[in-house]
Amino acid sequence: MTRWLAEYAWLPDRAEPTRDVLIEATDGRLTAVTPLTGDGPPTAGVEVLGDAVRLPGLTVPGLANAHSHAFHRALRGRTHDGRGDFWSWRSLMYAIATRLDPDTYLALARAVYAEMALAGITCVGEFHYLHHGPGGTPYDDPNAMSAALVEAAAHAGIRITLLDTAYLAGGVDGAPLTGPQRRFGDGDALRWAARVDAFGPADDHVRLGAAIHSVRAVPAEQLATVAGWADRNGLPLHVHLSEQPAENDACRAVHGCTPTRLLADHGVLGPHTTAVHATHPTAADVALLGDSRTRVCVCPTTERDLADGVGPVRRMADAGSPLSLGSDSHAVVDLFEEARALEMDERLRTRRRGHFTPAELLGAATVGGHAALGWGDAGRFAVGQRADLVTVRLDSARTAGVPPAGAFFAATAADVTSVIVDGRPVVDGGRHLTVDVPTELRDAIAAVTAKEDS
Ligand SMILES: [Zn+2]
Repeated sequence: MTRWLAEYAWLPDRAEPTRDVLIEATDGRLTAVTPLTGDGPPTAGVEVLGDAVRLPGLTVPGLANAHSHAFHRALRGRTHDGRGDFWSWRSLMYAIATRLDPDTYLALARAVYAEMALAGITCVGEFHYLHHGPGGTPYDDPNAMSAALVEAAAHAGIRITLLDTAYLAGGVDGAPLTGPQRRFGDGDALRWAARVDAFGPADDHVRLGAAIHSVRAVPAEQLATVAGWADRNGLPLHVHLSEQPAENDACRAVHGCTPTRLLADHGVLGPHTTAVHATHPTAADVALLGDSRTRVCVCPTTERDLADGVGPVRRMADAGSPLSLGSDSHAVVDLFEEARALEMDERLRTRRRGHFTPAELLGAATVGGHAALGWGDAGRFAVGQRADLVTVRLDSARTAGVPPAGAFFAATAADVTSVIVDGRPVVDGGRHLTVDVPTELRDAIAAVTAKEDS
């Protein structure tokens, strides 16, 4: 058994953190969560807990990054010349994609996932569509890229939901994949399902899920095949939705309806489905998502970076869509920043303050994300849950003097000092215990961008 004594821990259904909480775990699962002193000053009971690992600062459950494309990390800081827009950014992204193979992707993803671990992320949802070799030729193992990502997460010490993504067409009109996109495609949804069926990672740190890249990339008549596969296997299903107005316009032109309506009509929506972005939904779309309890994953720093816009996040939550957060393109890897952006972006949109409570921001970053990724046993400090503990210092230049409940409005990823995943220490003293993150990021990114910069 391992015991930790958190100076403050954020317990389920509490508006703010609780002082002096003893957290115990055996074999990676929480066995007891005990507040020792209530809201008063520490009592003598604290002094006798000699064997407990002290966690000074605020300890929260593991953060879940519900939307990631690991290789996009190589684009950070490279896409801002010439006033690039979403589509010019996408061209640069494709250029990186053409250089990756299972070995270089393992190295890059390992460094990226270790960066996530440093930021307190204990589980990542990898929305993975770079499946095949150059020109679309499958590798000898057609799931070699998926296997590289799963291995990368293991090296970094975090869990992964591998959201295997169907990417079959080059536009809403069903145009064939061209150029770099050919590496993404399996031909049709049945062949996509056959490939995924052959992938059976068994480790404790991985679960599978499915994804529909978007209505741009999966023809309408094949949506139900992907959704049915996820449903039959009881796995989460994710889909990019209305990130750009151009997607809505193209869908209306071809199908006469919004992307959300198209997904609804083909059985894609529901409580096991997560719509990623949902930046430009109509009022009717918000109702369709909420009534079906479809989850919504917002990625504020990427939506900011790509000039996507700000979605009606509060309205979607009120309509019935549970929220989660993703760092998506990894322009920033910092779930504290993503979480407070829920509130800040809503303020900019409405010119009013006070849309989300701190506990709601915590929920989106923790239990909401884990649920979206199929880990109902993670994200809360409760007996039986996975022992993920993320500790944020409250004595840095950013957080000193901040009340613990205000941490989501003050802390950054750099304030994470300790990360425990499934009971195992991964980050201690702000350092990853097995990966030299800056060095590995530098080398892995150099390997896939060298030609780009020369
Ligand atoms: Zn994405």
